[in-house]
Amino acid sequence: MRKKIVAGNWKMNNNLLETKELVNDINEAITNLPLENTRVIISPSYINLLTALELSKNTPIEVAAQNMHQASSGAFTGEVSADMLQSIGIKTVLIGHSERREYFNETDEILAEKLDTVLANNLEAIFCFGEKLEERKKDNHLLEVGNQLRNALFHLKAADFKNIILAYEPVWAIGTGETASPEQAQEMHVFVRNIISKRFGAEVGENVSILYGGSVKPANAKEIFSKKDVDGGLIGGASLKAADFAAIIKAI
Ligand code: PEP
Repeated sequence: MRKKIVAGNWKMNNNLLETKELVNDINEAITNLPLENTRVIISPSYINLLTALELSKNTPIEVAAQNMHQASSGAFTGEVSADMLQSIGIKTVLIGHSERREYFNETDEILAEKLDTVLANNLEAIFCFGEKLEERKKDNHLLEVGNQLRNALFHLKAADFKNIILAYEPVWAIGTGETASPEQAQEMHVFVRNIISKRFGAEVGENVSILYGGSVKPANAKEIFSKKDVDGGLIGGASLKAADFAAIIKAI
């Protein structure tokens, strides 16, 4: 059975004190939820990862990083390596978020390298992809997503998918309040699962968790999560409020 996953992307929000408060509040808000088949992940900024890890010890909360550099070390001022993340106890990293693609020029080629580095360091990736509004309007969304997946993932081996979670995030739905309809999400998730199955085998396709991200809120989470191929969510804005994040987790 595929794992259900609700992952929060905190982006560049929350200082040290706010991080402490939010981790504690989320933990309190989810204590009585049945989470046997559900993973709960938060991703604070680099600087607060260690604090979040310490506070979430012995809780159901896992802590992920929002990014990392593809090189293992060297002259890359301001960057953070896989080894650095691993050395403090991080196991999961977001790769390819649309904001990284757009504002930091992360191309499919760079993302393919990042995935190699993630896997070489025994980390797990939440690999994000999705079409822009123009592509959706031109009905090119499947083509675009297919290309993003081919370019970044097709050099991998089937066994690598033990450490890969996929996250479909239509760019037009991120932080805009506009959500893909449950049917649009399901259409894309089936398409993605088929691509993965064809390339890496039916078992890999069947077992890979595919999250939906884009303005998921307590009010729409249940409907989106009810779709067969939607295995959870990547949550931005609503992951910054413990009650909303807990309500989304409850909806899964
Ligand atoms: C995100 O940034 O990954 C995201 C889905 O944001 P939001 O939920 O705010 O749309």
